[in-house]
Amino acid sequence: MRNIFIILLAFSFVSCNSQNKNVEKAKEPTKEITKKSETKKDTMDFKIVKTDAEWKAQLSPEEYTVLREKGTERPFTGEYDKLFEKGMYVCAACENPLFTSDTKFDSHCGWPSFDEAIKGSTVYHKDTSFGMIRTEVMCAKCGGHLGHVFDDGPKETTGQRYCTNSVSIKFIPAK
Ligand SMILES: [Zn+2]
Repeated sequence: MRNIFIILLAFSFVSCNSQNKNVEKAKEPTKEITKKSETKKDTMDFKIVKTDAEWKAQLSPEEYTVLREKGTERPFTGEYDKLFEKGMYVCAACENPLFTSDTKFDSHCGWPSFDEAIKGSTVYHKDTSFGMIRTEVMCAKCGGHLGHVFDDGPKETTGQRYCTNSVSIKFIPAK
């Protein structure tokens, strides 16, 4: 009687194990899809491609967090939020010219805002993080995260608001 019980116990273990395996197999395809969509973002064609270690060595910790990890600086803290001098804004990572001071406006949102980017200097990506649907703006040359573009900009010009992080850009005053 005791032997039969042990055998039954052993069988139930085997069946449990095989069930677990089935569950793992069922989950696998989902994992692959997630991986594919992650790599798709990384393999966009950028002229400048560096490893995370190389970017870390080149950028300050703040720049790395915003540009490479898509972080956001706290509003009203960035060095260019209230700057309206004449000049050019380039990518802080690769110096790609992104915005001119002529397109900068005071949006009162706490981040440097432009109504237009220099043609071909930026690329866009649909961002669904934090339960919102936003359009992410990246540097077309290195893929650095700049901010987001919204359609609530000045109506008298383009109607767009490129909401950027001061950390992502560098101001070069006009000579
Ligand atoms: Zn760049």
